[in-house]
Order: sequence, then structure tokens, then C-alpha cells
Amino acid sequence: MMMDYPLTLKHIFDRAKTLFPKHEIVSRTSKGIFRYNYSDFHRRTTKLASALQKLGVKRGDKVATFAWNDHRHLECYFAIPCMGGVLHTINIRLSREHISYIANHAEDKVLFVDETLVPMIEAVQDQLKTVKAYVIMTDQMELNTSLSPAYSYEQLIEEGDENFIFPDDLDENDAAGMCFTSATTGNPKGVVYSHRGLFLHSMAIAMSDNLGVSQQDTLLPFVPMFHANAWGLPFACTMVGSKQVLPGPMPTPQVLLELFETEKVTVSAGVPTVWMGVLHELEKKSYDLSHLKTLICGGSAAPKSMIKTFREKYGISLLHAYGMTETTPLVFVSRIKRDLHHLSQEEQYDLLAKQGLLSPGVEMKVVGANGEVKWDGKEMGELLLRGPWIASEYYKDERTEETFRDGWLHTGDVVTVDEEGYVKIVDRTKDLVKSGGEWISTVDLENAIMGHEAVAEAAVVAVPHEKWQERPVACVVLKPPFKDKVDKEEIISFLEPQFPKWWLPDDVIFMDEIPKTTVGKFLKRALRDQVKSLYKSS
Ligand code: AMP
Repeated sequence: MMMDYPLTLKHIFDRAKTLFPKHEIVSRTSKGIFRYNYSDFHRRTTKLASALQKLGVKRGDKVATFAWNDHRHLECYFAIPCMGGVLHTINIRLSREHISYIANHAEDKVLFVDETLVPMIEAVQDQLKTVKAYVIMTDQMELNTSLSPAYSYEQLIEEGDENFIFPDDLDENDAAGMCFTSATTGNPKGVVYSHRGLFLHSMAIAMSDNLGVSQQDTLLPFVPMFHANAWGLPFACTMVGSKQVLPGPMPTPQVLLELFETEKVTVSAGVPTVWMGVLHELEKKSYDLSHLKTLICGGSAAPKSMIKTFREKYGISLLHAYGMTETTPLVFVSRIKRDLHHLSQEEQYDLLAKQGLLSPGVEMKVVGANGEVKWDGKEMGELLLRGPWIASEYYKDERTEETFRDGWLHTGDVVTVDEEGYVKIVDRTKDLVKSGGEWISTVDLENAIMGHEAVAEAAVVAVPHEKWQERPVACVVLKPPFKDKVDKEEIISFLEPQFPKWWLPDDVIFMDEIPKTTVGKFLKRALRDQVKSLYKSS
């Protein structure tokens, strides 16, 4: 037998200080670049933990953050769970109703707010029933806010105790984090992460065949720290001692590219729309990207054309990954197996555009109309998952039973698996187009359209049809130089060689913008309504 050693975030936190005290953490703030190292980070975070105790935070209490990706948010990522609290990261782009719903549902006791976001919390403070203290993430000691009682972050740090003793009896199954995921209808649903889940997830994603982060890397997570733990990167990077670069308030593609250049970033992570924005910026201006190796791309499907452009034009690997808030989030990563390097370049790009191979530690089952599907790359079924970093329920929510059944998380994603085990997300169950009893993948169509040189963004939705039940309609945003120069026929004839005839969209609607979710994915629900109302009014 082996020792029963608790897998907690405290181990990750201490390791970084002990082994990598001089490795840097760089944070873009509204006042400029803030730069320190893991040793200073450890000291400040310890002081913050002591301040939390003074504010009355007890074991299991939820402590919320409403913040950008910066060094203070990173300190909260460790101070809160290591002192026994639960880090509840709130999505800053939610509606007021949803912000107050989730803060009340989680029973947040303390709320950390970035100074630039204070008005948003002031607007809902009357609705917040459980918050006993607000901490404003600012350099200012004097505060100017109606939030009450409010404390200055830096004042708490200044008065904090750097010899604070963290509890030594944290259980690996204790709650460490919490994040709400938007539901199609109704209120967001809460997912609680355990220390053990976050620890094992960090080990898994650091593996070289997975995201492969190392102390050699300089990592910039563009993915927000309020979205599925910034894909677990703040924990994994601290575990291995990477240099971390946090892009701060309102990051744009230009800000990103400047930081890539000045901080010699080697790996970054974000949703496909961000990388499209980066490509557009690169067309306008050149940047020194000689250190950049990998862009992790997840959250929605990465178009093959984009993977190709990054590789062939800029020598950068776009690493396609899949996950969900409910899965901490990492589940699949696409890398070419050693015995598949003989495939043609095109075939390899096809594999890289799939969501990839299952991470060690996670188990899957793909269930179609006739039970588990064949691994033939064709038969479609719903993806079911289980493992040590897969949620087992929604937090105090009766919708748990719809999603968590018979020991499996039912993802609602329809997938195929090929002979080699590469998984491809065909669609969300509710986004598939059901035409004449057959399924059409909106993801495949939109990724193909985004391969056209004139197209900046494309999304495909189903519209009701008398005969076929549903038919696909494409919504396309053209790059500025091509505006009004490309028509429906051109898009359809571009797709013709790539798809069966009945897959081709019935219509192409040109738009200025595709509505997006709070984390930058295409918002299919809003787009469907928009397209339907266009049809009604015409
Ligand atoms: P969220 O919990 O907001 O991160 O959303 C999770 C959902 O995003 C998944 O259930 C998928 O539908 C979608 N998703 C995540 N990663 C990918 C990917 N690489 N390709 C396609 N869809 C993805």
C-alpha cells in the first residue's frame, strides 16, 4: 500500500515558491506592467489568506471574484482555496440578473471586484443577500464606492500576516473552486471543483502529449480566469513553475501580440474567434513571434483553414482542445500519433482539426440510436464522460438529473470517433440541422466557409422548412476589403465540391457581426432568432 497523501492546491502553491522563487509573473494593469516572481507571489498570497481569515471566511465559505486575468486574481486563485474557502469565479459579462442569481445561489460571503468593474457590482448590490464584505482590487487605499463594507486589496495585503499558518488538514475532496455555466434556458448552473480534481487535472494537462506546459514556457492565458478556471492553466503553470503573463483589463488582439513580443511568450490559449482576430491584426502589422510555439484553441471548433494558416504562414502550432465547465475543463487534445506521420499534410490537418484523443484519466462512451457507436469516423452519438475531474452534479440544482445519469456526464455534444480514436465534435445536439430525417453538421459547414479567403466569420443555423423540417442557412461576415464583393453564389459554389448537395445552405446572409456568448463563442440561439425574424419580415 501507499501513503494516503492529500492532493491539494497547497502543494502546488508551495512547490512554486520552493523550486522556482525567481520565475516571473507579469501582469498588465490599467497603470502599466506589474512584474514580480513566485517568491513575492507566495508572500502576498499568504498575507491575503490571513486577511480572509480576519474577514471571517471559514472552511467551505464561498469567496467570489469578479475580475480580469491579472496578478491579484492569481493570488485569489490560491489564497482562497488554500485557506479553506471556495474560489467562485464570476463571469464579468453576465447580465445583472444572472450575477445576482449566482452570487446568491452560491451564498458568496466575500466578493473581490476589480476596480474597473465596481459600477457593475454597485448596480446589483441591493440584490446580493449573503455578501458580508467587498474587496476592491486596486492600488488605492482610499476607496470611492457605495459598496459597503468595502476594503482596499492593497491595504489588506499591507496589513496581512506573512507568517499566516494555513490549515494543515485540508481534505483533497474538499471544494476548492466553483464556476457557473450558462444554460440554454433558465439560470446558470453551478459546478464545484475539488482540490483533488484540480490537482489531477493540473498534472494531466502539463503532460507533453496533452497541453504540455513546462517551467521552460512563458504562458499567456487569454481565456478568462472566470471561464472554466482559464482552462486550468493558472494551476498547472504554477505547479510546473512557468513564467505567467496575464493580459489584464479589456485585452485586444493588438495587446496580445505586443505581449507575445515583449514578454517572449511561448504558449497562449483562447477561443477560435480570438485567434481569428489575431490573424487579422497580423495582416495589418508585423510582430516578432519568434518565441511563440503553440496557440491552444478550444471552446468551439477550430477551422482547419486557420490551423493551416498559422502553421504555414507563421510557423505556429494551433493545438486544438475540447472541454466543458463541467469537466474542469480538459478532455481531448489533438496531436498526431507517431505512427501517423506518414499521412499527407492535408490528412494531418484533418486530424488536427478534430478535437483529438482522450486525456489520460478520463473515460468516454459514445452512445447513438443503437447503443455504443462504431469507431469508424462516421457513426454519430452523444458523448458521455466520467473521471476524477468530471463533475458529478450541478450545485443544488434540480437540473442535475438531466445531465448526470448512471454515473456519466451526458455532454449534449454529438461526436464521431475514428479508427484511431480521434474524436470529432459534429455539433451540439440542439444545433444540428435535421433535414429530411438526416443530420447536417453546422460546425462542418461553418468551418468550411471560414476557409474562403474573403470570410472573417461564419455561423450556420437551422431554419424551419415545410418539406424537410429544417434547412441550413449560413450567416457570413466578410473581411473589410471584400465587403459587398462576394455574393451567395460564390459561397455556395465554394462549398459544392466539399459537401453532398443536400448539405448546401439554402441561403447565405451577410452580416456585420455574428452575436457571441460572454466568452466569445458564436451565440447560435440569438442568431437563430435573428435569422428567423429576418425571414418573417421579408
Ligand atoms: P463551456 O462550458 O462554456 O466551456 O462550453 C462547453 C461546450 O463548448 C462543449 O460542450 C462543446 O459544445 C463546446 N466546445 C468546447 N471545446 C470545443 C471544441 N474544441 N470544438 C467544438 N466545440 C467545443
